[in-house]
Amino acid sequence: MEGRKHLVDWLRDAHAMEQQAESLLKRQAERLNNYVEMRRRIEQHIEETRSQAQRIEECINRVDGDTSAMKDIGGKISANMSALFNAAAEDEVVKNTIGSYAFEHFEIASYRSLIAAAEAVGDQYIARVCREILQEEEAMASWLEEHLPETTQMFLKRDEIDAPAKR
Ligand code: MG
Ligand code: FE
Repeated sequence: MEGRKHLVDWLRDAHAMEQQAESLLKRQAERLNNYVEMRRRIEQHIEETRSQAQRIEECINRVDGDTSAMKDIGGKISANMSALFNAAAEDEVVKNTIGSYAFEHFEIASYRSLIAAAEAVGDQYIARVCREILQEEEAMASWLEEHLPETTQMFLKRDEIDAPAKR
């Protein structure tokens, strides 16, 4: 199989991944009542995620004009990733922050691979778009990394005094 064909497949995977990301993030933001900073950062990343999906779509159209093939294969990723999120958990905010942190790293790995593939076939435009997106994913992962300890401690504190803690 030709390198460009693999690149198109992987861009499609990335597009499905971003659609999956948007729905996971939306569900979390809607439910977060007591963790305002977390909610705000997630809402910001929802906007970034929508724009990422658009940028990836443009990359796909660039290398493959056949937009009929633009069907979404979200199920593939959701099967792998939904196990990370448990909306019914008593410690929902903690579980979701861990899940989001893992998800961002899945995205980081995907874009690192895409950048290498784009460079291998000599497509500097796609490499640049993927590098831009990679930076946004890394920023989100760093934010989550920084805020996971305090979120966990806030959950414990709220739970101890019987304040609404789970989300
Ligand atoms: Mg993303
Ligand atoms: Fe992301």
